[in-house]
Parts: sequence; structure tokens; C-alpha cells
Amino acid sequence: MAETKYIFVTGGVASSLGKGIISSSIGKLLQARGYNITIQKFDPYINIDPGTLNPYEHGECYVTIDGQETDLDLGHYERFTGIQTTKANNITTGRIYQSVIEKERRGDYLGKTIQVIPHITDEIKRNMKILSLKGNFDFVITEIGGTVGDIEGLPFLEAIRQLKWELGRNAVCVHLTYVPYLKAAGELKTKPTQHSVKELQRLGIQPDILVLRAEHELSANLMAKVANFCNVDKDCVVQSLDLPTIYEVPIKMQEQGLDAAILRKLDMPVGETPGLGPWRSFLERRHNATGEVHIALVGKYDLQDAYKSILESLSQAGTYNGRKVITHFVNSEKLTAADVEEKLKDMDGIVVCPGFGQRGIEGKILAAQYTREHDIPTFGICLGMQMMVVEFARNVLGYKDANSREMDATTQHNVIDIMEAQKNITNMGGTMRLGGYECIVEAGSTTHDAYATCENRNENYVREEGGRLIITERHRHRYEFNNDFKTQFEQHGMACVGINPESDLVEIVEVPANRWHVGTQFHPEYSSTVLKPHPLFLSFVKAAIERADNR
Ligand code: GLN
Repeated sequence: MAETKYIFVTGGVASSLGKGIISSSIGKLLQARGYNITIQKFDPYINIDPGTLNPYEHGECYVTIDGQETDLDLGHYERFTGIQTTKANNITTGRIYQSVIEKERRGDYLGKTIQVIPHITDEIKRNMKILSLKGNFDFVITEIGGTVGDIEGLPFLEAIRQLKWELGRNAVCVHLTYVPYLKAAGELKTKPTQHSVKELQRLGIQPDILVLRAEHELSANLMAKVANFCNVDKDCVVQSLDLPTIYEVPIKMQEQGLDAAILRKLDMPVGETPGLGPWRSFLERRHNATGEVHIALVGKYDLQDAYKSILESLSQAGTYNGRKVITHFVNSEKLTAADVEEKLKDMDGIVVCPGFGQRGIEGKILAAQYTREHDIPTFGICLGMQMMVVEFARNVLGYKDANSREMDATTQHNVIDIMEAQKNITNMGGTMRLGGYECIVEAGSTTHDAYATCENRNENYVREEGGRLIITERHRHRYEFNNDFKTQFEQHGMACVGINPESDLVEIVEVPANRWHVGTQFHPEYSSTVLKPHPLFLSFVKAAIERADNR
């Protein structure tokens, strides 16, 4: 077996430059050349995982198939490459320290003073290499969170310095920086990039490749100047401009030879440039999808990153349905009986968003009632599904006090309840039902139809066995549909069409009388990828388009 090659992706000057997208694009381009790749992210913050982080601080929490709550960049990795990530693909300072401290308590380092160097850096290095021991990877791409110069990032950069030294031609560093445009001077400024590279050099790391993020086209001269000042080969400097969609980034990076530069730096044959056919046809479809379909996201956060995977899933589904999805944030905390009609009547479909806690749930319930009564395509995800169930219990079953145990611990009509196994848990972090669980989908349901008719199904989570459709979707929740009420729901028009074969828990509810009223306890948005969009999103957007066209 050939040796694994390591690509480190660091960032400088500012955050939010799109390191995750660059890492994903590198992964995509190498994958297109037939290599086995994996992408991992090392986050310098002290939380063990981002599970307890507020989406306002850190955006959505992405969940891997094996149940790790991770950074949202892992969502990009999966959407770009179609390769599932795992717990080992996202490591934080917290996890590194936790494991070092556990070892110290066990006595593994008896007699030694535990220090950042070498103990923390050794643990980081061990984790950086772990995936290559587990899988047969040609490339392990490691993105480092934060920006060069952050105090908490230092041990990670020291680990990279050591690894680069040890691995020689088997490791490269790709550094992403920013080239601002000063309007008053009418000039692009490379000084911040030079400083950021100097900072890396001061830490003993010579970047091999520079990706310059800019809002204005950079001239060849300017790029040559950067190369010269930063000790980087001329053909190892590429630019990354704003694009209509992040999915064009791999194409632009390939055009400038980013993957070829990486291969050269790693002493690997460059060979022919792959055509990226399926990727290009996705982009072409996206470009041609000009008609609009309007989807409301009913939730308590009105920021893009909080519902990242849902937005991407919707937009992918739009592309495959030949439409452009326009999303509208409808703040569920501000939604009232007086304005729900005004806010939702012109929507072609609504997503009742996931979430935790009281805030905004009454708005979600109102929205679900309005769309059920007006037969507007509705997709409830996790808490969204739970609120669809509560709405149905209140307004159809007539239980005015119906609620989830999460919101009301004393209600007699706890149609959503805490699982027995979760009752005695007191820790907040990592204690939910997390990751992939199987579910059998009932034939004849909207959901079954969605999965069964999808041409381009993903075997990672859909299979047929003995004539039954079995899906394995990802979860992140504590509360569940209360089976004590199941018969009543079914008798009154809410069908439980997805059941976990092991625990008998209800995973999917539908109102069959409506054209598309589906709630899933799981999060399908984590599984939708560019080349294999999720069947439920495809089917939901299709239903929304039908409504749009019939209005
Ligand atoms: N708060 C709900 C629960 O814990 C739903 C969580 C979610 O939407 N991810 O069950």
C-alpha cells in the first residue's frame, strides 16, 4: 500500500474565508482522480464537541452517521465528496485535553510532567494520523479551524510543523488568505497575506500553496508578487473569487491547477485532468433552473448557518427539480394567529425547523396548523415533526394541553415524551439519541413513494430487504413520539409510516389526506449530497412546485 499523503489547510487574515469549501474542493478534485480521500477538521476551541454550542455562535451542529455532533464544515465535506464522515473526522482541543488527562489519571505518563509540548502536540499528531490507520486513504486532508495567530491554534500548528518535518514530501500545507480591495485607493492589498504567511513561517511552517480569497480579480503580476514574497512557487498561487454558488469552487480550483500543484508538491504523477462530468452537469442544471419556488423556514433562528444543511438540501432538490428555491425565514417567535396567514399564504411549501427548548414553539404549532388546514406542503424535521404532532393532538384530537414533555413536564397529553433510557441523564453534552438508526417505511405512504421512486438513491442509507424499504437516517434528539397515543392519531388521520424495527419508536408521521404533510424524527438534511440529493427533499420541493404551478 502506498503511503498516505497529508494535506493541511490553514487560514489567515480573517475567518469565514471558506476554508471548509476549499478543503472540500481539494477532496473532490483528488477523488475525481480516483484517489481514496477523507477530510477531517481540527477545531481549537475547548468544547468537547459543538453539540452544546449556540447556533448563533457556531452555526448548525452537523451529525455524523456514527453519532458525533460536529462542525458544520463536515456537512460540506459530505455534500461535496459523498463520503460519510465519522467521529474521528472532527477533533477539538477539548477532546485532545480530555484524552491526555484521562491517560494521565490512568498513569500512562507516570513520573512525567504533562505539558503542551510534547504531550498535547503528540496527542494532536496521533489524532491527525488516526484515519489513515483506520482506512485505506491515499490522502488525509486536515482543515484547521480558526486563523493563524490565534493563541489556541498554536499547538495545532506546532503539530503540523512537526508532521511536515517527519513526513517530508508526504505532506503539504495549503494556506488560505484574503486580499482586500481598498476602494479609496483603487487597489488590491497583499500585505495582510504577506503578514499571515510570515506568521506561519515564524511558527516554522512554510506554506506550499496559497489560495488567495478576493472579491476582485487578481492579476498574474500580483499573484507572482505574492509568490515571490512568500517563498511559494508561482504556479502554487491560486485565487478564489466570489462565485454564484459554492459548488463552482472545485471547477475554478481545477482550472487554476490547484490539485495538480498539490500532486507536484507531493512528488506524485499529475496525469490527465479529470472531466468532472457529473459535477458539471449538476452545475448546468443549476444554471438552467431559473423559475422560482418559495419555501418558508419556520424556526427561531434567522441566520443562514443555523440551518445550513436544510438550506443546501432544499437548494439541491430545487436544482434537480429544475427550479431555484427561494427561502424565506419566518421567525417562529414572532408568528401569531393574527399574522400566520399573511406570512404563509404565498409560500409554496414550509419547513418546520428543528430546535431545542420553548422559544418559538407556539409559532411552529400555528404554522403547522395553518398549512395542514390549507393543504400547503409541509416538512417537519425533528422538533418540527414533534410540533406537527402536538398541533394535531391539540386541534384534531382535541387535547388542548397536548405538548412535548420538553416544554411541559406536567401535561396529561404528553404526545411527545422523554425516552425511558434518557430519564436519568443529567449531562447536556453528547447524551441524546444520536446518529444513524434504522426505520422501516410503510408502503403506500408519501415517504415511501419519495424513497422508492428516487432514481439516484444512496445506498449509504436506503436499502430494500425482503420487499421492505429500510432507511438509516441520522438523529439528534431526546424526546420521542409517545406510542400510548398512536392508535388515536391513526384513527383521526395522522399516520405513523416509519417505525424503528428495534425499538418500535415512530420515526415518520404523515397526514395522508394532504398532498404533502410529513414529519420526520430524524434529520434527512445531513444525508443530502450534490450528486445524490435526498429523496424526501426532492419529493417535498416537487410538491411545492406543483402548488406553485397550480396557483
Ligand atoms: N428538542 C427536541 C428533542 O430533543 C428536538 C431536537 C431537534 O430538533 N434536533 O427531542
